[in-house]
Amino acid sequence: MMYERIGELARQLQPELVEWRRELHRRPELAWREVFTTDRIVSLLERWGYSIVQRGFNGTQSGVVADLAGRGEGGKTVALRADIDALALTEETGAPYASETEGVSHACGHDAHAAMLLGAAKILSECRDGFEGRVRLLFQPAEEGGVPSGAQSLIAEGALEGVDAIFGMHIQATLPSGVFSYGFGPRMTASGKWTVTIRGKGSHGAFPEWSKDPIVAASNFVMNLQALISRELRPLDAAVVSVGIFKPSSETFNSIPDRVELQGTTRSYRPEVQSHLEEGLRRLAECCAATHRCEAEFSFRSGLPALVNDLAVTTVARDAARALRGDGALLEEAPQMGSEDFSYYLEKTPGSYCFLGCGGEGTPSPYAHHSPKFRIDESVLWMGSAWHAAVATDLLSEGT
Ligand SMILES: [Zn+2]
Ligand SMILES: [Zn+2]
Repeated sequence: MMYERIGELARQLQPELVEWRRELHRRPELAWREVFTTDRIVSLLERWGYSIVQRGFNGTQSGVVADLAGRGEGGKTVALRADIDALALTEETGAPYASETEGVSHACGHDAHAAMLLGAAKILSECRDGFEGRVRLLFQPAEEGGVPSGAQSLIAEGALEGVDAIFGMHIQATLPSGVFSYGFGPRMTASGKWTVTIRGKGSHGAFPEWSKDPIVAASNFVMNLQALISRELRPLDAAVVSVGIFKPSSETFNSIPDRVELQGTTRSYRPEVQSHLEEGLRRLAECCAATHRCEAEFSFRSGLPALVNDLAVTTVARDAARALRGDGALLEEAPQMGSEDFSYYLEKTPGSYCFLGCGGEGTPSPYAHHSPKFRIDESVLWMGSAWHAAVATDLLSEGT
């Protein structure tokens, strides 16, 4: 209903959005250490009349939850969330505003998320007479594998209390700039982390008869585990098992090591599939080890839950993007195999998690997220701000 005004305000903000994003980009901070980032966000929110509900989570000074009331009493509460943490990765973009911290960079684009939500915060503060109820902003630390995850901590410390709906957005370098990607229902997978240690008996590489070779047992395990997906699951049950670490206890070319440690990830949508993968990996590890006279130890840790978008809230998310950017910008996408801790919010509150292309004009970027050369097309920042502001005012003006 206020799309034109919101779009106009967002476009005007574009130079500031770039400035905020670059300032955060220069000073990236790892999970639970986002203190400078939080300081900057808090000082801007206070300037625009937000009340700070809580500064600092999980016993740190990282993260902030802030509220803005619309006109009148009562009404609903809509939460908007941006993650703000960086990655342990050395930037190789050569950008003039590149990270000034060795080994840390915003290679997932959370600097852009923070800037876009700041933009929305400013727009909403200027439009607060146009909606009832309350907007709650969640600037969340520690999305990138923080333990505990930022979303878990914010929820545990009450950030979702009284919240009726929640929205989140990730910029997406693998989509052309300005494409708005949405999906109803399941959107991102549940993750799991597994570890297998195969113990054998080391020896000289020239005398295999003195060994119980864990390299052969571990290789057998790796070569067999994809059959869990192709032969044991229903083909329509999407799932992934990948090996990320294969580490022998010694690294001498003419020795057989005592043991091999393997670690990897699983991705799936349904809890039954996750349980099947856990049981299957354990079974295969033990059998493959036994076949070669070795022993296997197995452990499994469930990670993030599957991310499932609410149908009604996603309709609001899509319609706002359509109103701001037109039908040509919309892309309804199938579920994908990545994971996101926004899923914890969606377990508690109806909401929608969407993506905004930032790869470049009409093209995806050659460098995906988590690449040292990851770059974004900053010209989309205003679109993210406008979308956040639009979905909040939509829900608070009309209800769903
Ligand atoms: Zn990431
Ligand atoms: Zn990310």
